[in-house]
Amino acid sequence: MKKLRIGILGIQGDIEENSDAINEALKELQIEGSVIFLKNFTSVTEIDGLIIPGGESTVIGMLLFLQKVQLDLLKNKIQSGLPVLGTCAGLILLANKTYDKTVGETKQHLLEILDVTVERNAFGRQKDSFESKLNIPFLGEETFNGVFIRGPAITEIGEGVQILTKLDNKIVAVRQNNIIATSFHPELANDNRFHKSFLNMCLEYNNSKKN
Ligand code: GLN
Repeated sequence: MKKLRIGILGIQGDIEENSDAINEALKELQIEGSVIFLKNFTSVTEIDGLIIPGGESTVIGMLLFLQKVQLDLLKNKIQSGLPVLGTCAGLILLANKTYDKTVGETKQHLLEILDVTVERNAFGRQKDSFESKLNIPFLGEETFNGVFIRGPAITEIGEGVQILTKLDNKIVAVRQNNIIATSFHPELANDNRFHKSFLNMCLEYNNSKKN
């Protein structure tokens, strides 16, 4: 059986929660694998998938962009197929462009690898956090519990971007080839279907590397 190595960007945010969800998803799928916490991307060549967790996108971005060379390595890897799951702040960091209602364009560091524009804090502030049942055909018929904590919304998408679900007419999950990104926190849903779909993509990627 293949052994998967799943990298979780471990700078700030929902790191442990994603690690728990991955470990549970590995068990449920009966796939052997382990989680590696990454502070930089020197070991990005050794992983079969990357999670960019929720947290504070400006802080994660600032610390990430101190490592220019490794960032280029990461972007190349993603462009050549490395599966990525970005949740909340992770979605923001992957986006091409971000803004918010009060300051307009938020001049923050972005990976600019997901062809979307994102509105930060589109559902209000921390105190306005909420949960909502979402229809996500990509995961199956049963609804998914979306946990929104200062969540962003996707306001524009490029041609290669597929909408996975909307809430109140706002796009809150997308897929662009090997990248899945959500406004909400699947790692807090007690439902590992996002992490399992991601692991299946990682398995495919791992197989394609070896063949
Ligand atoms: N609004 C936060 C940001 O811009 C994201 C919130 C989250 O990841 N829960 O970074």
